Amino acid sequence: MVGRIPGPICFMTDEGIDEGTLSRTRMPTPETSGTHTLTPVKSKRQLTDTEKKLVADVKNALQEGLAPIIPIKSGAYWVTWVENNAKNSRKMSELNTAFKANAEAFIKALEDAGATVKIRNTKRSAKSAYLFHWSWKIALGKCKASDAEKMAGVDIEWDHGDDEKSKSAALEMVTGFGLAVPPQSTDAPSLTSNHIAGKAIDMDITWTGTIKVKKKDNTEVSVIYMANVNANTVLHTIGASYNVIKRTTDAPHWSVNGG
Ligand SMILES: [Zn+2]
Repeated sequence: MVGRIPGPICFMTDEGIDEGTLSRTRMPTPETSGTHTLTPVKSKRQLTDTEKKLVADVKNALQEGLAPIIPIKSGAYWVTWVENNAKNSRKMSELNTAFKANAEAFIKALEDAGATVKIRNTKRSAKSAYLFHWSWKIALGKCKASDAEKMAGVDIEWDHGDDEKSKSAALEMVTGFGLAVPPQSTDAPSLTSNHIAGKAIDMDITWTGTIKVKKKDNTEVSVIYMANVNANTVLHTIGASYNVIKRTTDAPHWSVNGG
């Protein structure tokens, strides 16, 4: 394409431009410097045979779900990952129907007696249970990063090739997930947790002094507040009357069978 474009950008010679005003002191000769030949953008080059084969291979692999997976190292990234991919719930509505009714009745009895109940967790995804379990064990030195099992759909690399790095990355996850650690909980979060089936609830139950809580049979039981809920056997007995069973090694945890 051939055309003439007026203005300062047309004239690159040293003979015509006053840059301050854009005025010319001399017009260029039309046939030479004022005339532009605009060549079309070159069309894309053709792929080589090797490149074509590579593209075809990647397409096929993606279609068949065989794309190579590059694991992402453990650390805070996985806290966000859980939020986006394996979110846990604190809603009562996510619980197993029968356990939900029992837990609600127990909580109502506690609240009627003047206790404050703060629900921390109800239903947990199996994927987050996996991340909770291994991050807890590695961070607390209960196992080596290389001992962690794999789980389909959770492409995490626990082993940073250095024990201290692996431990501190796992600890970032334990902290980010807000997992209970010793002395509050001496159990690693379970891979087969009752939370996965919606049959467990984590809650903080607090009150001041002594309250009278109704058991399921409507008898009232006086129960003194203890900072260590795991030791408060009277409270456990009240929960048990509703079939909400305390696990005595895990402060916030109550479930269908104590597991
Ligand atoms: Zn729990």
